[in-house]
Amino acid sequence: VSAPTPPPTGRPTAVGLDIGGTKIAAAVVGPDAELRERVVVPAPRTGGSEATLRALLDATDRVRAPHPDVAAVGVGAAGMVEWPSGHIRWAPNSPYENLPLRDRLAEHTGLPTVVENDANAAAVAEARFGSGAGRACSITLTIGTGIGGGIVIDGQIYRGPTGIGAEVGHIIVDAEHGARCGCGATGCLEAMASGTALARVARDAARAEPGGMLADLAGDPERVTGETVFEAAKNNDRTALALFERIGFWLGAGIASLVNVLEPGIVILAGGLGGSVGDLLLAPTRSAFERYVFARPHRSLPEIVPARLGPDAGVIGAALLALDAR
Ligand SMILES: [Zn+2]
Repeated sequence: VSAPTPPPTGRPTAVGLDIGGTKIAAAVVGPDAELRERVVVPAPRTGGSEATLRALLDATDRVRAPHPDVAAVGVGAAGMVEWPSGHIRWAPNSPYENLPLRDRLAEHTGLPTVVENDANAAAVAEARFGSGAGRACSITLTIGTGIGGGIVIDGQIYRGPTGIGAEVGHIIVDAEHGARCGCGATGCLEAMASGTALARVARDAARAEPGGMLADLAGDPERVTGETVFEAAKNNDRTALALFERIGFWLGAGIASLVNVLEPGIVILAGGLGGSVGDLLLAPTRSAFERYVFARPHRSLPEIVPARLGPDAGVIGAALLALDAR
């Protein structure tokens, strides 16, 4: 006679991993998005796929050690990730390429594993437990070095047939006069409204105004960053405020296009730029959005709000997807 199966000691938890351009975050996450253990380590800049893999396995082992009952592993990774194979094809700002990440992690941990694009992972967390909770359709834009994003419909990510759809950062907002995008196209939302775009137009402005506040704060027009613009705008510098107006204009135009297609109940702005600058960016974004959205006088509008989960959205979403897939 075999012993009866012991009752489960609690609800399942998963390890969530978030691989960004500069750091790797790992945490044990419960089904209500609560964090039980958390480590952040620098993302390897060299050493290719193997260095990244070693850092991931090490971070996983560290957070898992005090939680032996972890049931699954989920990863949100910057770059082009095939779904559901979890094979990373390429990432523009990271050293890994052609990495069968899901299989390698599953082999090491012996646990069911999923690997998703990092912006999709953050979007699912915001949709279920953050600013989008209770909405049938939400769009999350992660605005930092680039613009990533995720479309969540009834709690599920829309990915397209091979996982590379929903590239909301690469909708074209100015095909004729826009800036060149890292993807090779011209005038993508990412090229016009990301943190990188803000820094670029801010350097241009500082060069044109060498005695202005931007050049003064940075010490040199070439050293102006997004943070410089934020500092200057807080001091009511007109040039800095105009730069946020300009970034918000393109962002609002892009959001209008997305809303015209998908009719989400809410649009959530996340990431280093989207989640942190508040009304400096939100006000011009909302204004341009209302100017360009289809049939403005005849419809109700979705809210445009900052993300609620902050930098933890990636690990939370990755873990939730892992728990879904068990
Ligand atoms: Zn692009």
